[in-house]
Amino acid sequence: MSEVNDIYSEIIMEHARDGRHKHELETETCSAHGHNPNCGDDITLHIFLADGIINDLSFTGDGCAISQSSTSVMIETLKGKTITQAKEIVDIFVDMIDRKEISKEQKKLLKDAYAFQNISNMPARVKCALLSWKTLKEKLEKY
Ligand SMILES: [Zn+2]
Repeated sequence: MSEVNDIYSEIIMEHARDGRHKHELETETCSAHGHNPNCGDDITLHIFLADGIINDLSFTGDGCAISQSSTSVMIETLKGKTITQAKEIVDIFVDMIDRKEISKEQKKLLKDAYAFQNISNMPARVKCALLSWKTLKEKLEKY
């Protein structure tokens, strides 16, 4: 592994370990449940929407390090974004995992979530990484 990859695995492990976004919300407007039967990942997203903005976001549930970390990074990336922006960023993340070309601007929008780029080389882990992103987008489609 190159040094760059090490930095990225560092980001992933850090988020998997620290549970800063793993709790319920005092006030939530909706929640979304996602399950990945391939691995057993089971996540509930707690969402507080106001005026078309994701004011607050957190998660509860269990799963492998990749799914926990990916959820935590997603929350950090999307909190405070409008619903429209959040959906766009989810699409960029999915494209990246699908190995589609993404622009420098798009890479900037992903922030730490770019750390998951190499997951595309680990097919068994792809569903773990995508679980919470797809779960959130499905929910946001209703707004
Ligand atoms: Zn998993």
